[in-house]
Amino acid sequence: MSSDCLFCKIGDGSIPSEKIYESDTLFAINDINPQAPTHILIIPRVHQTSLLDVEKSDHEMMGSVITVANQLAKERGLDKTGYRLVVNCGEGAGQSVLHIHYHILGGRPLKWPPG
Ligand code: AMP
Ligand code: ZN
Repeated sequence: MSSDCLFCKIGDGSIPSEKIYESDTLFAINDINPQAPTHILIIPRVHQTSLLDVEKSDHEMMGSVITVANQLAKERGLDKTGYRLVVNCGEGAGQSVLHIHYHILGGRPLKWPPG
């Protein structure tokens, strides 16, 4: 827990936000500024600033991110139309919240490369 971190505070409930998925290690919320009809954030409960902090001991949790992403995507029919799982690592890549999180985007055609 980082006392000044938005996603730590949402995770522990001190900032209210509807959680669309919860486990001991992860939770998911709808993005407040959606960039697609489905835009979900999967957020590990433990505070790590970015992908650069991920270690071998986090591999199981990272695997569960993919399981949860597939589950949430299938519930929304995105297994039929496709979805993107994105991590912005560092401010130069567009990371604005310095607590690791995984974006699920889908429900519209997605172009490549992203901007
Ligand atoms: P990133 O730019 O990769 O760090 O992504 C941060 C995301 O968090 C952005 O897509 C924001 O719209 C989203 N966001 C910021 N504050 C909130 C919030 N209170 N609830 C849900 N999503 C948020
Ligand atoms: Zn945090």
